[in-house]
Amino acid sequence: SSSARTASSFMFDKAYVDGKWVSAKSGKTFDVLNPATGEVLGNVPDMNQSDVTEAIDVANNAFQKWRFTSPKERSVILKKWYNLMIENKKALAALITQENGKPTADAEGEVMYSSGFLEWFAEEAKRTYGDVLPNYVPNKRIMVIRQPIGVTGMITPWNFPSAMLTRKAGAAIAAGCTVVLKPSEETPFSALALCQLAEEAGLPAGVLNVVTGSRDNAAALGKELCESPIVSKISFTGSTAVGKILLSQCASTVKKASLELGGNAPFIVFNSADVKTAVAGAIACRFRCSGQTCICANRFLVQEGIYDEFVQALGQAVNAQLKMGDGFESSTTQGPLINAKAVVKVDGLVKDAVGSGANVLAGGEKGSLGACFYQPTVLSNVTTDMRVAQEEIFGPVAACIKFKTEQEAVAIANSVRYGLASYFYTSDMAQAFRVSEALEFGIVGVNEALTSAVEATFCGWKESGIGSEGGKYGIDEYLEMKSICYGGI
Ligand code: ADP
Repeated sequence: SSSARTASSFMFDKAYVDGKWVSAKSGKTFDVLNPATGEVLGNVPDMNQSDVTEAIDVANNAFQKWRFTSPKERSVILKKWYNLMIENKKALAALITQENGKPTADAEGEVMYSSGFLEWFAEEAKRTYGDVLPNYVPNKRIMVIRQPIGVTGMITPWNFPSAMLTRKAGAAIAAGCTVVLKPSEETPFSALALCQLAEEAGLPAGVLNVVTGSRDNAAALGKELCESPIVSKISFTGSTAVGKILLSQCASTVKKASLELGGNAPFIVFNSADVKTAVAGAIACRFRCSGQTCICANRFLVQEGIYDEFVQALGQAVNAQLKMGDGFESSTTQGPLINAKAVVKVDGLVKDAVGSGANVLAGGEKGSLGACFYQPTVLSNVTTDMRVAQEEIFGPVAACIKFKTEQEAVAIANSVRYGLASYFYTSDMAQAFRVSEALEFGIVGVNEALTSAVEATFCGWKESGIGSEGGKYGIDEYLEMKSICYGGI
């Protein structure tokens, strides 16, 4: 039965366009590595601009039919696709661990989260209501309807290689749009596996197209998606730097863009917090996926009355509970970082902090497991001017800063140009209300570190993004409104 399928049966070494497995026209390919071992997992087509132009035409042809399917038809296919993901959870998770490195438990968690978007949008497909307006003059009527925006271009990152596809493409396909998606060059296999399952679920050829390309071609592929007049909408998750490039390219065709960009999440621990709960939250939201999620806590702001107790407890918890290793080993909590470059960056931030007076309470070194590993690290005595507090670390480093008053903590938290996730711990209810309203972030966790859910809205403020994904608003990003005025009544 299909439940016996293995990860290797989901490894496709071709891109997926118009329902077919295709090579780059140039014939070129590039290698994809397993970050835990450095081994080559396989290779996929290194496509260039002309391959993407072709995929856009395919998606445009498919849109002419797909836009007229009923929400129910789309819903049935999305639901089947969801069921196939659940059936093949273990194989899809193994694929994620192979190319991304995250431990099996995290990878299986991602498959559940990822498939959940298909189920959610299967339901939301049927609820894209419009409005009939009250009569504003006797002989006219106005109706507002919502229609699929068209061909959508998507660029996804490597940290959630499965879920970033379904969160975007699930919504677009539910709305009646078609898709050309470029996955990260680090993790193309998870995206390609989902094409196979979509086909088995009955998704017509050309509705979902996945084009692969190396880092060298990423800029050209992105430019083509952003500047093509056929593409009506761009959805991107990745770094703020790349998001800014794409947004400016979208200006040439006044293209709608949804951007989920970097973060610099504060994690505030007030004097009244329960230290055990705060430490558990810190472990979950700083060290999950080795610190490589865009909502990971990046700056720990700890009030002076609880500072020593919290940083000691966090250091001990990290030493006692976290274990680096290959994601396939069941004892591993900390897989590798995505590549050796990421390790060099994280190490540089730690060295810089230590050189400026930070203390190491746990980790602080690359460790001996391989080029992509970095020890889970806790730093105390960190100050807001250090690079480790200013930049998005994207690695397993908890940098702890001391503060005195609530006002000071909120000011530090809001002092950055990012505004994605934020967290704080308190047992004072009035403070919980005040601070959650004062934080300039799209996501707030109050005594809670795991805030993501398909039902929730994922939205970055400031330079963390534009638009929202998931939840009841997620499908709106793929719909245009139309006001229709009927006269002569
Ligand atoms: P990260 O540093 O986490 O890899 P990036 O923003 O660099 O984040 O990458 C996210 C996605 O953006 C990947 O699919 C990558 O290939 C793509 N990308 C990188 N540079 C560009 C670019 N100049 N134009 C379009 N896409 C790009």
